Parts: sequence; structure tokens; C-alpha cells
Amino acid sequence: MRLVFASNNAHKLEEVRAIMPAGINIMSLREIGFTEEIDETGTTLEENSRIKAAAVAAFVHDRMTECPDAGKIDGVFADDTGLEIDALHGAPGVYTARWYKMECSNDGMMECSNDETQIFAANRAKALRELAGCSDRGAQFRTVITLIMLSDRSVRQVEGIVRGRIADEEYGEGGFGYDPLFIPDGYDKTFGELPSSVKNGISHRSRALQALVNTLQ
Ligand code: IMP
Repeated sequence: MRLVFASNNAHKLEEVRAIMPAGINIMSLREIGFTEEIDETGTTLEENSRIKAAAVAAFVHDRMTECPDAGKIDGVFADDTGLEIDALHGAPGVYTARWYKMECSNDGMMECSNDETQIFAANRAKALRELAGCSDRGAQFRTVITLIMLSDRSVRQVEGIVRGRIADEEYGEGGFGYDPLFIPDGYDKTFGELPSSVKNGISHRSRALQALVNTLQ
């Protein structure tokens, strides 16, 4: 089976390839020549992952269902992840990546950075500000994956969740995004401190990927 993963993120591709059983080959967007920007206009993780999968599935269907170099492509899947903070009623959720940027466009006061490291740091600072003085630190990462099979356009959606809490300050420099703030249940260290092998074993993304694999077997 050959599936396209709607991403060029090297870290995610490595994680996906590591978890997929033998016999399921994964191709990136770059490998299929998909270069369009996809507007993530949905208001839920479910919608956004479906928008991404559908855009790439349409591309594959139109241009390369039978790719001479790559062979037949059976399906396309895309993921979308959000941090859902209990005390903020599930925010930032679908706006997790853009949380700090939203603030920029709302008040127009702050310089809005395009640098990923700066965006991650600003997002973490916002999380700490939003939760200042709040004793309810419960939160979860949730990943939704949408798979579209090209033969019959059938759609499957799965999710993976890791529960935990938001630390009172940043700890560790590993991982990315909100990792230095997120302490998974059962641990007393953040994802930024824990070895990536531990994170990858329990993460939202690996759980969603495992759920996806289960639907394929
Ligand atoms: P995406 O949908 O995977 O691109 O994730 C959206 C945003 O969620 C990212 O820009 C990060 O800020 C955050 N995020 C996703 N996965 C993780 C993770 O494993 N650790 C920390 N932050 C994450």
C-alpha cells in the first residue's frame, strides 16, 4: 500500500515512517510534486485535517493516480494538532499554531514574527500569561488524522490524545512548540525534558498514527 502524508515536515515524516508497518509506503508532498499552499480555514481540527487531505487527494487524483515513478497511490492522509487547555475551555485548540499571531493581528501592537522559534516562544509566553494565578493547569494535546482512500473517496478520521498539565514555567529545551511547558500524565518532567523516545511512545501524534494503522489492518 502506498499513502501520501500531506506534510513536508521532516520530523513528522520520520515519526510516521517509524510507526507504519512494513508494506505501507509513505510519500511526502515534495515527493509527489505538490507545492500549493493549503488554506486551513476550518474551525476544528477535524475540518482542517480533512481540508488538507482533500486538497492533496484532488491533486493526486487529477495528476498522478498512476505515477510512473512512484506506482499506484492508494490514499492520502493529513494531521492537525491542537493544545486544549481545560481552564480555557479547550483553547487554543485549532488556533494552537497561530495563537500568538492572532494577538498580533487583533491589537496590531506587536511585531508579528515569521520565525518559527520566536513564534513557539511567544506562544508559550502567552500560555503562561493566560494561566497566571490559575490552579487548574490540566490540558491535552489532540491530533486528528483524516485519511482519504482514492479508490472510493471514503474518509476515515482517527484521533490521538495525551493528557497532562501546563507547567508553571518552561523546563527543558528538547522537542518543539509547547513541549517545555507540557508535563504528560504519569511523569514529572515536561516533553522538553523527556527523551524523544519517551515522548514519541506516548504522544498525541503517535497515538493517532497507531489508530490509523489499526484501521488499515
Ligand atoms: P500541527 O497541526 O502539527 O502543525 O501543530 C500545530 C501546532 O501545535 C504546532 O505549531 C505547535 O505549536 C503545536 N504542537 C503540535 N504538536 C506538538 C508537540 O508534539 N509538542 C509541542 N507542541 C506541538
